[in-house]
Amino acid sequence: MKTQVADLTFELSIPYAAIEKRISEIATEITSDYSGRIPVMVGILNGSFLFVADLVKQIEIPVEVTFAKLASYYGGTSTTRKIRDDFDLTIDIKGRDIILVEDIVDTGNTIHYLIEKLYTREPASIAVCTLLLKPQALERTVPELKYTGFEIPNDFVVGYGLDYKELGRNLKGIFKKV
Ligand code: 5GP
Repeated sequence: MKTQVADLTFELSIPYAAIEKRISEIATEITSDYSGRIPVMVGILNGSFLFVADLVKQIEIPVEVTFAKLASYYGGTSTTRKIRDDFDLTIDIKGRDIILVEDIVDTGNTIHYLIEKLYTREPASIAVCTLLLKPQALERTVPELKYTGFEIPNDFVVGYGLDYKELGRNLKGIFKKV
């Protein structure tokens, strides 16, 4: 299935049914790993909004949900390596178990930046849960990366929260550039 987003053509790579199935597996893991605790799920905006919504619905322990907004990347379809802090966490995370929820980890620079920043606030723990990971693009090890939905090649993807020129976030599956 092909679709046009702005000036580029994309084809379906991961259908929504596969995303749903994988999310329910990750939710089961989080439910068991954090049993007896109340983790703070921190969605990284904008790209993670659908993932956070679907993920928390399947988690069967109490969780808090909040968001932070970072902008990195993509002046087009490749990284710019610039990270902009748009808005910060509004809660005190000292002593809390933090789960950062990302749409995609590419070079790993954005998540590394955020992890370093949050450690200075003395949380009990930080784990990262990302829907997508591009292992061949990773430029640093991210030991906090505990939950990965799908490993994908170095394709540019949109859909399910991810954009191209701010469009395509409402596509139901993950689509890769043709
Ligand atoms: P990193 O800092 O790991 O290189 O990049 C992370 C950010 O880059 C993601 O949060 C996302 O905003 C953006 N990004 C990386 N790869 C893609 C991609 O294939 N498609 C889109 N739409 N954004 C991407």
